Amino acid sequence: MAALQAKHPGENEYLQAVQEVLESIEDVYNQHPEFEKAKIVERMVEPDRIYTFRVTWVDDKGQIQSNLGYRVQFNSAIGPYKGGLRFHKAVTPSMLKFLGFEQTFKNALTTLPMGGGKGGSDFDPVGKSNDEIMRFCQAFMLELWRCIGPDEDVPAGDVGVGGREIGFLDGMYRKLARQYNTGVLTGKGMTWGGSILRPEATGYGAMYFAQLALEKVGKSLAGQRIALSGFGNVAWGAAKKAKQLGAKVVAISGPDGVCEIPDGITDEMIDYMLDMRASNRNKVEDMAVKYPAATKFTAGKKSWAIPVDIAFPSAFQNELSLADAQELKKNGCWAVFEISNMGCQADAIHWIQGNGMMFAPGKAVNAGGVATSGLEMTQNAEHISWTADEVDERLHHIMAAIHEQCVKFGTQADGSIDYVKGANIAGFMKVAQAMLEQGII
Ligand code: GLU
Repeated sequence: MAALQAKHPGENEYLQAVQEVLESIEDVYNQHPEFEKAKIVERMVEPDRIYTFRVTWVDDKGQIQSNLGYRVQFNSAIGPYKGGLRFHKAVTPSMLKFLGFEQTFKNALTTLPMGGGKGGSDFDPVGKSNDEIMRFCQAFMLELWRCIGPDEDVPAGDVGVGGREIGFLDGMYRKLARQYNTGVLTGKGMTWGGSILRPEATGYGAMYFAQLALEKVGKSLAGQRIALSGFGNVAWGAAKKAKQLGAKVVAISGPDGVCEIPDGITDEMIDYMLDMRASNRNKVEDMAVKYPAATKFTAGKKSWAIPVDIAFPSAFQNELSLADAQELKKNGCWAVFEISNMGCQADAIHWIQGNGMMFAPGKAVNAGGVATSGLEMTQNAEHISWTADEVDERLHHIMAAIHEQCVKFGTQADGSIDYVKGANIAGFMKVAQAMLEQGII
């Protein structure tokens, strides 16, 4: 860690993600001198390569705008680079390196042959028109298309990139590459190669994982009061499945504050989350304006201030602090499942684990999204489409396999399960073994 900090000063998210994994794998690593000899850790923590490019586009006023674009190809030991694109004003190489690193372990857990990658831009979609989004996506793809390919690197969505953006990106890729039947992006529309249930998959998978973890301690999601954060694609899918499984979603949030829903979110409200995302306003208050009788908006507050049984961070990294964890517990919360990537700060995770609460990390809980992207790639390669039931059954199996790996590598002497350790060790062992067998490259 000291060497990495010296080499990459100030890359805080990246260093945080690496530190968490190294802490977890230390014991296992020391039992494998062959890993040490091949310098597996030193090689695994650095991306294979990073592409950086300028993206220039014209806004609705005719003004010229410039952003930075990136693709971090992190690790390809077990398959082509795979991972989303994030469009957010705070995007930096450090953020994308942390996400690419996490993705490598997450993808290893899915049981599918996918390496880890991540990309994006500091482009801020908030307040942009549909035309501006399209022009930006087209300009972004003018550079990205040379770095990707169905057997090379397969991007998808992430924060700020959903079905609409994937459409604009894929349209431009087709034009440039003259490849019309490829699985070069996932999260595509249903009429042009997308997989049914891919939009729902991250949230659905998270709830399947939570259900398995709760079953282990004799509980279930039915009847639990839960808090989500954000109102994007992930929170939307999570709310849908949570409601189907009998849980009550009593909070969603945005950068502007929290929207409390004391009697639980309704199907209509879940549908309205899609309109809120499409508006590019990024305000959760819009839900309270639309449904004033059933909701209460509080500016400047997070979902973690609302009394719940289970918290599901589902928006952005480091969105749940130590103070938030303590407030959750004080209000009766007993479990935290990260759906966002690295949703909890490191000291919050340590405190949650040390204070008798259940905790599971994003790379296990949210892996259903990328796993279903893997299923989309398989359908594209075979030129077929599976039904919703077929995809859902495979997603179920994959989440169960991920949970099983966490149990295998994370069960402690007292019988409890350390899901952080379990996920990190399982992911690490798979990638490390592949790297070892492929020699010094
Ligand atoms: N952005 C998602 C993630 O963090 C999905 C990536 C994908 O489908 O490739 O896993």
